[in-house]
Amino acid sequence: MSLQSLLYHAFGLKDQDYLKTEYESGNVIIHIQTKADHLCCAGCKSKDVIRKGVVERRFRTVSIGLKPVFLHARIQRLECRTCGQTLQEEIKYADEKKSTPEP
Ligand SMILES: [Zn+2]
Repeated sequence: MSLQSLLYHAFGLKDQDYLKTEYESGNVIIHIQTKADHLCCAGCKSKDVIRKGVVERRFRTVSIGLKPVFLHARIQRLECRTCGQTLQEEIKYADEKKSTPEP
Protein backbone atom coordinates (compact mmCIF):
# COMPACT_ATOMS: atom_id res chain seq x y z
CA MET A 1 0.00 0.00 0.00
CA SER A 2 1.44 3.39 -0.93
CA LEU A 3 1.47 6.24 1.56
CA GLN A 4 -0.89 8.23 -0.61
CA SER A 5 -3.47 5.45 -0.38
CA LEU A 6 -2.72 4.97 3.34
CA LEU A 7 -3.53 8.64 3.88
CA TYR A 8 -6.67 8.24 1.86
CA HIS A 9 -7.97 5.06 3.45
CA ALA A 10 -6.57 5.09 7.00
CA PHE A 11 -6.58 8.79 7.79
CA GLY A 12 -9.40 9.95 5.51
CA LEU A 13 -7.22 12.66 3.99
CA LYS A 14 -8.62 12.47 0.51
CA ASP A 15 -8.15 16.18 -0.17
CA GLN A 16 -4.47 16.10 0.83
CA ASP A 17 -1.41 15.65 -1.34
CA TYR A 18 1.30 13.47 0.14
CA LEU A 19 4.66 15.23 -0.20
CA LYS A 20 7.23 13.07 1.62
CA THR A 21 7.93 11.09 4.77
CA GLU A 22 10.73 11.78 7.25
CA TYR A 23 11.95 9.70 10.16
CA GLU A 24 13.04 11.77 13.16
CA SER A 25 14.24 10.16 16.42
CA GLY A 26 11.76 7.31 16.19
CA ASN A 27 8.89 9.44 14.94
CA VAL A 28 7.30 9.21 11.52
CA ILE A 29 6.63 12.62 9.99
CA ILE A 30 4.24 12.66 7.04
CA HIS A 31 4.30 15.90 5.06
CA ILE A 32 1.02 16.88 3.47
CA GLN A 33 -0.73 19.84 1.93
CA THR A 34 -4.22 20.45 0.64
CA LYS A 35 -4.64 19.80 -3.07
CA ALA A 36 -4.83 23.04 -5.01
CA ASP A 37 -8.30 22.32 -6.36
CA HIS A 38 -9.63 21.75 -2.82
CA LEU A 39 -8.54 25.12 -1.45
CA CYS A 40 -11.38 27.40 -0.50
CA CYS A 41 -12.12 30.33 1.80
CA ALA A 42 -12.67 29.26 5.42
CA GLY A 43 -15.19 32.06 5.79
CA CYS A 44 -17.53 31.82 2.81
CA LYS A 45 -16.29 28.62 1.04
CA SER A 46 -15.55 30.51 -2.18
CA LYS A 47 -12.90 28.94 -4.40
CA ASP A 48 -11.93 32.35 -5.78
CA VAL A 49 -8.86 32.64 -3.55
CA ILE A 50 -5.26 33.83 -3.90
CA ARG A 51 -2.48 32.03 -2.01
CA LYS A 52 -0.76 34.32 0.49
CA GLY A 53 1.89 32.10 2.03
CA VAL A 54 2.16 29.01 4.15
CA VAL A 55 2.18 28.22 7.88
CA GLU A 56 3.74 24.91 8.91
CA ARG A 57 2.09 22.95 11.70
CA ARG A 58 2.49 19.47 13.16
CA PHE A 59 -0.34 17.33 14.46
CA ARG A 60 -0.01 14.05 16.33
CA THR A 61 -2.13 11.41 14.68
CA VAL A 62 -2.77 7.67 14.80
CA SER A 63 0.40 5.65 15.50
CA ILE A 64 1.60 3.03 13.04
CA GLY A 65 2.59 0.06 15.20
CA LEU A 66 4.78 1.51 17.97
CA LYS A 67 5.85 4.55 15.95
CA PRO A 68 4.30 7.89 16.81
CA VAL A 69 3.06 9.53 13.62
CA PHE A 70 2.83 13.26 13.00
CA LEU A 71 1.20 15.04 10.13
CA HIS A 72 3.36 17.97 9.06
CA ALA A 73 0.97 20.25 7.25
CA ARG A 74 1.68 23.16 4.97
CA ILE A 75 -1.37 25.24 5.83
CA GLN A 76 -2.03 27.90 3.24
CA ARG A 77 -3.15 31.43 3.93
CA LEU A 78 -5.77 32.46 1.41
CA GLU A 79 -7.04 35.86 0.40
CA CYS A 80 -10.64 35.58 -0.68
CA ARG A 81 -11.77 37.62 -3.67
CA THR A 82 -15.41 37.05 -2.76
CA CYS A 83 -15.56 38.21 0.89
CA GLY A 84 -12.21 40.03 1.11
CA GLN A 85 -10.91 38.17 4.18
CA THR A 86 -7.45 36.63 4.46
CA LEU A 87 -7.80 33.40 6.44
CA GLN A 88 -5.94 30.15 6.91
CA GLU A 89 -7.48 27.27 5.06
CA GLU A 90 -9.77 25.09 7.11
CA ILE A 91 -8.04 22.01 8.52
CA LYS A 92 -10.47 19.14 8.66
CA TYR A 93 -8.14 16.51 10.11
CA ALA A 94 -7.26 18.41 13.30
CA ASP A 95 -9.93 19.69 15.61
CA GLU A 96 -7.93 22.51 17.15
CA LYS A 97 -10.90 23.76 19.14
CA LYS A 98 -10.99 20.54 21.15
CA SER A 99 -7.24 20.05 21.66
CA THR A 100 -6.38 23.65 22.54
CA PRO A 101 -9.31 25.34 24.26
CA GLU A 102 -9.47 29.14 24.21
CA PRO A 103 -8.26 30.72 27.46
ZN1 LIG B 1 -14.50 34.27 1.54
